Amino acid sequence: MTLLTAGLDPTLPVRDRPEPLPEVQATANLATLADQARKDMALIGHNHDWVPAPQDGAFNVLVLGGGQAGLGAAFALSRHRVGAVKVLEAGPADEVGCWTRYARMHTLRSPKNMKGIELDIPSLHTERWFEAKYGPEAWAATDLCPREDWNEYLTWYREVTGADVDFGTTVTAVHTPDADGYFTVEATRDGEPVVYRARRIVFALGLKGGGGIFLPPLVQQLPAELRAHTEDDIDFSVLQGRRVIVLGGGASGFDNASAALEAGAASVEMHVRRPDIPRQNSLRWMEFPGMQEHFYDLTDEQKWEFSLFNGGLPQPPTQASVWRAFNHANFTMLTDTRWSAAEVRGGGSASAGAGTGAGAAEVVITDEHGVEHVGDYVISATGYAVDLGLRPELDEFLGDIALWSEEFGPAAEHPMGQCPYLGDGFQFQAKGTASAEAASYIPKLFHLSTGARASHGVAGNQLSGIYAGLTRVANRIATDITRENWPDFFDSFTAFQHEEVGNVGRHVDGEAWYPQAPRY
Ligand SMILES: Cc1cc2nc3c(=O)[nH]c(=O)nc-3n(C[C@H](O)[C@H](O)[C@H](O)COP(=O)(O)OP(=O)(O)OC[C@H]3O[C@@H](n4cnc5c(N)ncnc54)[C@H](O)[C@@H]3O)c2cc1C
Repeated sequence: MTLLTAGLDPTLPVRDRPEPLPEVQATANLATLADQARKDMALIGHNHDWVPAPQDGAFNVLVLGGGQAGLGAAFALSRHRVGAVKVLEAGPADEVGCWTRYARMHTLRSPKNMKGIELDIPSLHTERWFEAKYGPEAWAATDLCPREDWNEYLTWYREVTGADVDFGTTVTAVHTPDADGYFTVEATRDGEPVVYRARRIVFALGLKGGGGIFLPPLVQQLPAELRAHTEDDIDFSVLQGRRVIVLGGGASGFDNASAALEAGAASVEMHVRRPDIPRQNSLRWMEFPGMQEHFYDLTDEQKWEFSLFNGGLPQPPTQASVWRAFNHANFTMLTDTRWSAAEVRGGGSASAGAGTGAGAAEVVITDEHGVEHVGDYVISATGYAVDLGLRPELDEFLGDIALWSEEFGPAAEHPMGQCPYLGDGFQFQAKGTASAEAASYIPKLFHLSTGARASHGVAGNQLSGIYAGLTRVANRIATDITRENWPDFFDSFTAFQHEEVGNVGRHVDGEAWYPQAPRY
């Protein structure tokens, strides 16, 4: 067991957020930019509707989740002029996804200069937004985008792209299509049930969307009031004066350790299984078009080999987040520390609530070296599990969705085999045993979430490959719409009349030789 303790200047780190331009100027800049973006979208957008309108009150596509992935998917569909797209978002209008909730870091990890959710519209890029708010010098001087700015940018992006979002709407169930081919989606808003119908559904429910949070059994069996997962809505103020144990030395482990220390925790002890925390960031290698756009086109053997290797390369915290934690003298990081037992002592009973008084419940962790670690609260920074069986909205489809474990022999016994075996546009694919009916509707459900990694690598919901993921989803949907409506499209073509030559003969005096106004 290696012990590293801290203790530099507790006033550091200074947040690296630039000084905004004067509010009047920034507001005017952002309005001008929004105007420019709308013009750009129109300029290179398609100019007439082509997708048959859905039934009254129904949608062509429902996007579940209004984070960067859900909003990006809605925008990508709009670039194909697929209308009647609705986004359902559990959260409020001033938040987009995780960034002001359980993401507790100071900055994003992703490089600032990547292709992203702006797709083909440069005026929607973060860089343009940042410059409008802070000025070009500030962008040049910024290394990683501050988390709150990313949230603000996404809010602006949502407005400018015109995403149609129902906020405060939590999806609870999705039902198989009715006789007209529409899935029914059940949700609640303000405690009341709401129902939607749609021809297609994109699931963009974030890191939990492939299954759920991962809590190791030893953490799970602790009383709920003595432990949390990093995705939980943790009230850090109650950790003041308390001893916190953080399990896991990834990005979230450091961020949550710092959040606890900044809230006045008496101490934070981080437990890391490995001999060292991850230092290399394999994502930086993956950020090239071959990986982002074409990983899907490799063989299953190549994809699986990559997934196995990459699965063993955990994501590191940022350097700043390590420094942020180590700036507290009461922060300790223990490596090579695997838990073998976790129990509650004191407080009356094993399920007793926490407290700070004498006799309050304590959590006692015993590691594999037999050393005991005592704390008042455990934060589990242990990430997420892919297990579609944990997703309530997939209940009716689960038995028909193909998984890697069934489609590719070597994946049978591996946890990553739980990833859905997706098609080229992130659509679920039906198992060989599915009925013909299920086989027809399963590919109308799209998984833009963590389970996509075995099929699509870095393309998906995270910034390292989001543009490629969004592009694939929208292309697939537009292709499928074309195919399924082709007989009608062709009928309309055979009936099509568009006479451009009205006079076969000499030019008539008084007629303009060339049109004097646009004809199309
Ligand atoms: C500490 C930390 C640092 C990170 N740094 C980066 C980074 O630098 N770059 C990066 O690309 N990624 C980073 N990530 C990962 C980041 O979480 C994802 O990339 C990003 O959130 C993916 O966007 P999303 O839209 O898929 O998910 P989210 O942003 O989580 O959005 C999902 C949305 O779905 C909504 N939702 C969930 N369930 C329901 C429901 N039942 N009904 C309705 N709505 C629902 C949620 O409210 C949420 O708004 C980081 C994550 C953490 C925790």
